[in-house]
Amino acid sequence: MEQAGLNYDGKLAVDNRDVALVFERIADLLEFNDENPFKVRSYRLAAETIEGMSESLAERAARGGASELQKIPGIGKTISGQILEIVSTGTSAYFEQLREETPETVLDLRRVSGVGLKTSQLLYREFGVTSLEELKAFAEGDGLLSVAGLGEKTVERIKKSLARIESERGFLRLNDATELARSIVDRLVESLASVPAGPSGESPRIEISGQVRRGREMVDRIDILASGPVDPLVAAFTSSGQLTQVKSVRPDRVEARTLKGTTVILHIVDADDYWAAMVRTTGSVEHVRDLEAQIEERGIRIKGFKPTGDNRGARARKGRRREEADHERGVRVESEEVFYNALDLQYVPPELREGLGEIAVARETRLPRLVTLEEIRGDFHMHTTWSDGQNSVREMIEAARLRGYEYISITDHTMSCKIANGNTPEELLEEIEEIETVAREFDDIRVLKGAEVDILSDGSLDMPNDVLDRLDWIVCSIHSGFNQERQQITDRVIRAIETGYPNVFAHPTGRVLGGRGPYEIDLEQVFQAAIENDVRLELNASPYRLDLNSYWAGVARQAGVGFVISTDSHQAGGFANMQYGVITARRAWLTADHVLNTLPLSGLLSELERKRAARRG
Ligand SMILES: [Zn+2]
Ligand SMILES: [Zn+2]
Repeated sequence: MEQAGLNYDGKLAVDNRDVALVFERIADLLEFNDENPFKVRSYRLAAETIEGMSESLAERAARGGASELQKIPGIGKTISGQILEIVSTGTSAYFEQLREETPETVLDLRRVSGVGLKTSQLLYREFGVTSLEELKAFAEGDGLLSVAGLGEKTVERIKKSLARIESERGFLRLNDATELARSIVDRLVESLASVPAGPSGESPRIEISGQVRRGREMVDRIDILASGPVDPLVAAFTSSGQLTQVKSVRPDRVEARTLKGTTVILHIVDADDYWAAMVRTTGSVEHVRDLEAQIEERGIRIKGFKPTGDNRGARARKGRRREEADHERGVRVESEEVFYNALDLQYVPPELREGLGEIAVARETRLPRLVTLEEIRGDFHMHTTWSDGQNSVREMIEAARLRGYEYISITDHTMSCKIANGNTPEELLEEIEEIETVAREFDDIRVLKGAEVDILSDGSLDMPNDVLDRLDWIVCSIHSGFNQERQQITDRVIRAIETGYPNVFAHPTGRVLGGRGPYEIDLEQVFQAAIENDVRLELNASPYRLDLNSYWAGVARQAGVGFVISTDSHQAGGFANMQYGVITARRAWLTADHVLNTLPLSGLLSELERKRAARRG
């Protein structure tokens, strides 16, 4: 097969996501310029298809060129040509041309809550605002009030949202931070593969610590801890393509930044000091300070648990030298458990090391046994091609079986959620039939017939009761009317909960990380209604949502609310996000008992029956 113009050598860094991103941006720019909606849609569809493919496009292109690409549904001649361009050059001439005509940064304007397509076009065309920075300056100069169609309330909302976006600069979502951290660790491990073991003969250790290990939803600093030969570690770290700026290099600490401004720090320690350093580099500043107080109180010395240099510039030099000498003679710890036990503390899981009182609880050995990923037996929220998902009912079931799940619930959107191609009652009945038919083929997984039913603006459910009665599992959620007043949204949700139908209220605040903020809602009232009506709150595991977040999940837990952790997958690959839901649950101190989808199937079914019986009264 010809490979005209294609230099793919198996090493090119372009993956499907990069290609999808280019098409997504093309679609956005075309839309911004009011181009033909069908053209916009075709690029958008191509992006979605590519994002959902498990096979590498670059490999497929290398194998069969354009004709092989055109076998993919929705990929025609024009787009396949552009894919070839992108996998060999990282971009396409068409995209570059569009970018030249319109500054790509205008697309960022829509990240601001209150700025839709029309407003962003107006801001650019009438007022020459081309980026978030310019919008901020424009807003500070009170320019927004002169934009047609923007009332005072919207202007306030835009200003608030701009401030939030500003505060998120340099932050990565947990999934992106985790992937970046893992790829750097892999690179370091690889770089040491050919290096002979050092004099101590111990094999090197390289692991993620810091915010990523604690599972913070947004990460502005990635910490990696290593013990091993310093020079090759430093060389591999500083030459990593993802780190664009090396800030400082010391034999024990190298600091760099990514293109987006996230700090990445490599800590290098002696093998003997590894676990003490793991404790120090994992915990928040507050947690580490609490530990230091414990150490001081007990008059213990722990080898390797010395100031790392960050955030402690004020320490007197002389004091530090003496302290370091002390630490050389201190207790040696071979694990983190030993470290905490040496202080008469229960082992504190990384997710709890935030300095929020965990040390006092650990002192009394009252830390709970936190829920684990292995305890999750099913997933209650997912979409298929019946609404805006990318895989069929069958494909989702197959993927769930591969994860070893005992049960899932398929929950496509209902019709008022138009952008998500929601089901009419007739369509939902058809889907139910399909689920029943396909599910009969599998005796190792129970497939619940469900729906994600929209809560309409008056609190009624977007599906007639006789259809709801046919379902095993009902998710309710809000996808519109985000701008209602706080009490109005709260009442609306409570009314939906009180219908007796919903099993769970999903993504309860509606926030999108790095996107829009939460809508106004009084969660405490919602928690109360949920408890009274036997409705669970969702901890949505999508790294874009993580909603409820760990703070509110903690409040809900204390109020006595039950949970489900669901991925809201829109493709089979989405199931992998369960890890982020579980880590968030752990940060909220949740145990398996709090989480419905840790129940074995039999237990789950009797729960569902109880709920149904209560509704029948
Ligand atoms: Zn939803
Ligand atoms: Zn959903």
